[in-house]
Amino acid sequence: MADSKPHSKFNVQKLFLFGCLIFFFEPNSVHSDESKLTAKQSKTLKETFLYLESLEPKKIRIDKSTYNRHSQFESFFKFPFSGKKISRWIQSRIKKYNFGATGDYVAMYREGEVLLGRGFFTLNRLDRVLVLLHEARHADGKMYGHVLCPDDFPYLNTRDWKIHPAGKKGCDSVPDGGYGITASFLFELGAYGYLSQTEAAYRYNSEISRVIRD
Ligand SMILES: [Zn+2]
Repeated sequence: MADSKPHSKFNVQKLFLFGCLIFFFEPNSVHSDESKLTAKQSKTLKETFLYLESLEPKKIRIDKSTYNRHSQFESFFKFPFSGKKISRWIQSRIKKYNFGATGDYVAMYREGEVLLGRGFFTLNRLDRVLVLLHEARHADGKMYGHVLCPDDFPYLNTRDWKIHPAGKKGCDSVPDGGYGITASFLFELGAYGYLSQTEAAYRYNSEISRVIRD
């Protein structure tokens, strides 16, 4: 919900306990209901999953001690990094995709369904993956619902500067909520060389900035 990453403005919140969105696709296992999407939207969703499934571990490009210090993927997901496994993880949580008005959010999750807004389909494939991963976490229950970001929250939204998280329900109080798991995913992409260290770091930092401790 909530600013699901990318872009939410948080006004739509009243309508949804958690906002989120979803989608999925995998040739031979879980099947989602995409009947409410246009053929073009369905295709975009499928391409998103195919891209995700192409991300498999290879040689680690960073030093081992740095990897060990920051890698949290396996402790969060309970399986080693694998795009195919993450794809299944998402698909097991999101059974239905819908398209519709999402206010300032890109996507919203509600009761097993992800509502995708127009903005979702304008994102690049990595951002689409991050949105789906984030929304899928909301399927795991209220413990992964968001909390208010501090009134003095200083960080910029990487995708839309008009969105100000301060004082809005766009933060997590648990390390493995929607923002923590996307951060752990981005770290692996940097470690395996799928993203440059610069891109992985700024993306990672942005996600992790939403994880606040009391
Ligand atoms: Zn959320």
